Amino acid sequence: MTDLKIVDVVITPVALKDPPLLNSSGVHEPFALRSIVEVQTDAGIVGISEAYGDDATLALLHQAATAVVGTDVFDLNELSRRVASAVGGSAASSPTELIGTASHDKTVAQATAAFEVACYDAQGKATGRRVVDLLGGAVRERVDFSAYLFYKWAEHPGDFDVDSWGEALDPDGIVKQARRMVDRYGFGSLKLKGGVFAPEEEIEAVKALRREFPDRPVRIDPNANWSVQTSHRVAAALEGELEYLEDPTPGIPGMAEVAAKTSLPLATNMCVTSFAEIPESVRLGAVQVILSDHHFWGGFRATQNLAALCQTFGLGLSMHSNTHLGVSLAAMAHIAAATPNLTYALDTHTPWKSEEEDVVLGGGLTFTDGAVTLPSGPGLGVELDRDALAKLHEQYLTCGIRRRDDVGWMRQVHPEWTGKRPRF
Ligand SMILES: [Mg+2]
Repeated sequence: MTDLKIVDVVITPVALKDPPLLNSSGVHEPFALRSIVEVQTDAGIVGISEAYGDDATLALLHQAATAVVGTDVFDLNELSRRVASAVGGSAASSPTELIGTASHDKTVAQATAAFEVACYDAQGKATGRRVVDLLGGAVRERVDFSAYLFYKWAEHPGDFDVDSWGEALDPDGIVKQARRMVDRYGFGSLKLKGGVFAPEEEIEAVKALRREFPDRPVRIDPNANWSVQTSHRVAAALEGELEYLEDPTPGIPGMAEVAAKTSLPLATNMCVTSFAEIPESVRLGAVQVILSDHHFWGGFRATQNLAALCQTFGLGLSMHSNTHLGVSLAAMAHIAAATPNLTYALDTHTPWKSEEEDVVLGGGLTFTDGAVTLPSGPGLGVELDRDALAKLHEQYLTCGIRRRDDVGWMRQVHPEWTGKRPRF
């Protein structure tokens, strides 16, 4: 068998419209940034992946791109080694504070992931096999996702497109949003992004969701915006009501204090976001569920390593999402389908994306009864729509946003806003 060597890498930053979704940092900006990575091989096969699109990530990807040229797409150990040595000296950077503390390990992991996923896509196209088959085989052909509910404004201040969801600023608004999302996509579980309003209001929203959807598990994620004391209070009020409580408070020691006084499983994509953070978390019993995310854990193989550690230590495994397009959705579905102990419904921001905007042909994978069916084509099973990619790249060029800044955007409306956590 001949090599399949990388001869060139093309990185295309894109911007997609993003609704004014509220979180503990502030508010989503009118555009979210992503990038599409294309790994071109000497056989003419091109592998694709999707990564963050902020300036720091783009610089990182370009640095790594030069180093991976010449690597065989099947030699992922060599790929990882080259990426690590190319970006290992870079300043630690994170596209958002909502995915934990930046570290060198995570910087390397993030860059590795972008190329590893594209290599898997190329491997699949070269062999005629799906990525899920290359990852050990599908333990499920349908991957469940959850309805990701957000408090939100009706519109961004300024001259921007208005989404069709309207505002959601109280329990009623959240229940209406959930109803529409469930009716439309069939999601079997619900996740509320909290940390926005006083915890009492958010407790009421969870209870309202439980009343309206008694058969659907509910999670709440205040992004570490509650003190330990507040977390104790909310956990007590929601005992028995939640599938899990995600990142109530900052840091592993704080989470351990909360965990000690509640029967609710605590989940995280903020205090355990790299392998280095697992030992302390396990020692203190700080979290019971880790949210994987191949984008910053280091790719598919790293996610499988994480899954093995979760199994070893009796932890649950779920999946985190940032605003994303159809390449990431496909990647998330493939790795989830190949991971036996990833049994929670995955997070996704897909419903918040404009239906007219994606970079994949046909607009991307769709949800039926809350699940994505794995595509049957080779690799990731999705193809780039060149016109759509060019259009979203043009939008990137004109949108003026170059890094995610939920705090700064909130300041335009509330000048005194700091985004400091924990606020409650
Ligand atoms: Mg989270």
